[in-house]
Formats: sequence, structure tokens, C-alpha cells
Amino acid sequence: MLNRRTFIGACFSTLGLSFLDAKALKPWHLGHHGDFYFKQMAQSVYVMHGAKKRDHDAQCFIHNPAFIESKNGIIIIDTGASYVVGKAVLNQIAQISPKPIIAIFNTHHHSDHWFANGAIVEAYPDVKIYGHQNIIESATHMYLQGEERLISQAKAKSFYLPSYFVDDDENMTIDGEDFHIQHPKSAHSNSDISITHLQSNVIFLGDIVLESTLGYFSEISSILQNITFLEKLSQQKRYALYVVGHGTSGNYQKTVAPYLYYLSSIKEEVSKAYEEDKGIFELEEAHKRLKQKFTWKEDFTFPLRFVENHMEFVYAELEKEDNFL
Ligand SMILES: [Zn+2]
Ligand SMILES: [Zn+2]
Repeated sequence: MLNRRTFIGACFSTLGLSFLDAKALKPWHLGHHGDFYFKQMAQSVYVMHGAKKRDHDAQCFIHNPAFIESKNGIIIIDTGASYVVGKAVLNQIAQISPKPIIAIFNTHHHSDHWFANGAIVEAYPDVKIYGHQNIIESATHMYLQGEERLISQAKAKSFYLPSYFVDDDENMTIDGEDFHIQHPKSAHSNSDISITHLQSNVIFLGDIVLESTLGYFSEISSILQNITFLEKLSQQKRYALYVVGHGTSGNYQKTVAPYLYYLSSIKEEVSKAYEEDKGIFELEEAHKRLKQKFTWKEDFTFPLRFVENHMEFVYAELEKEDNFL
């Protein structure tokens, strides 16, 4: 695995630029996880990679907030999982630029990507929040109803979802910065967007791509469509940097390629069993082969039972496709 120094070196050589990895004067210290601060990854693009593991010390900071410095302000991509995370993100941005936060993109409806919006709105009430319109229904359903709402409120303090909606293949400009949006109808969730910043050629993928970890897929996800979207990405010209939702950002080979390989391998094995008329409880052979195929890294942060869960998910999707035909 590349260490941070070589990774950043690789990143710069792709961009043909060089930046100082200037440590923040006051980094955010999270117990045994160490210090966190935004690093410049490209001209005007900064990312702060979150903690690798969810535990008490991580304080819910497990995602990768990013920001772009425009002429007159700051555009944040994914604010974070709580009000506390939002305050820390603001504090770290302020150490790099005194400009106001003018816009936020939320890549999808999961709380770790937008519960911190309230902290930003509190400091900058005029901030515009962008996302796919499915984020409203999916976030409301998951976090804002019944008893769940109280638990959510304890984390977020107040709820601010996007009120400016973007859709697939949309081009937009914010304060002179140009963006291209892509929206797979259903991949990690049904509200995912990827955001390409054209000036830097950096793509922000939210949880459509995860590195060194795997997400869970729910009834509004589709592993098959996630694969289709990653195949579409593989056909596009290479971006200078792929910012992932969790794990470490990097080039195509380090981010999209391994995740696509993992999901495609699941699809391949399960399709084979499905075509052989094997039932959902007869996937042991396929499971064994998949486990052998992947060398799980020591710092991989998801339990192995996720593989079974993903296999069952693909099986159910294949059945659904069959019934639909
Ligand atoms: Zn997610
Ligand atoms: Zn996430």
C-alpha cells in the first residue's frame, strides 16, 4: 500500500503541479487516530480524510470532507456526520482561507455526509446546499421520522437538506468554478451524485466508490447499477484525482479499479451459481472462491460477513431482473 508521502507524490506528478503539505497550525486531534487537517490535493482543491475506524475517539469523523476555494468563497463537498464534525471542518477551513462558505454539495442522503450542514448554515446562513432531489425522501425516511428523529437531532442539532437540486449530466458554475454532475439512478443509494470539478479535473464520488472498506447496500441501492456506473467511469478520460467517500483518495487504479473488481467478482460468481439454478442458500462454493480471491488488508474496516450480504443482494437483484422480463 502506498504511504501518504508516495501517494501525494503520485498525485502531484499526475497533475504536474507541486504543493506544500502545510500542516494546519491547530489540527483536529482525535485521540489515538492522531491529527486531522485539510491537505491541498490540486489547485484550489483540499481534502481532509477521515478516521479509518468508527470508534469513540473518531467522534463520527469517518468521511472525507473536501472543499474548493473559489474567487469569493468556499464550496464544501460533504460536510460530515454531526454538528461537532461541522464545527471542526469550519475550523480547519478557516486555517487555510478566511473566505465565507458559499455552497455545499451533499453526495447522497446518508447522515455521515450531511448531518454537519447545520453547523455551516449557523455560521453562513446564505450558503446554498446542492444535491439530488431523491436525497429529501430518502433522508426523511431514514432519519427524520418517529423516534429516529430524536437520535438524529442529538447528532445534527438542526436539519438542513439541499434545496438546490442537480441531476445527471448537468453542468453548472458556482462563483466561476465549473462542475459536471453525474447521477446513477441507483448505486450505493438512490440519491448519489458524482461531482467533477472541471478546472482541477478532480472527481468527488461520495460512496459510489469506497477504498479499504465496503458499504452496506439497502433496498434503494443496486450493486448491478453501481457496477454499470463504475464501468462508465472506466470509459471516461482519467481524472487527476478520485475522491472517495471513505478510505483514501487517489488515482483510478487505486480507487475505482479495486472496487469495480470486487463488485464485478461478486456479480460473476453469483451469476454463475444463479444460472446453474442454485438457490440462495447454495452459494457456499462461490463464497469460498471469493474469499480466496481477495487478500484482505489488515486495516480493511468491514466484517467479512459483508461479502455474504453482497452476494445475497446480487442474487436478489438477478431474481428481480428475471421476474421483470
Ligand atoms: Zn453512504
Ligand atoms: Zn458514507
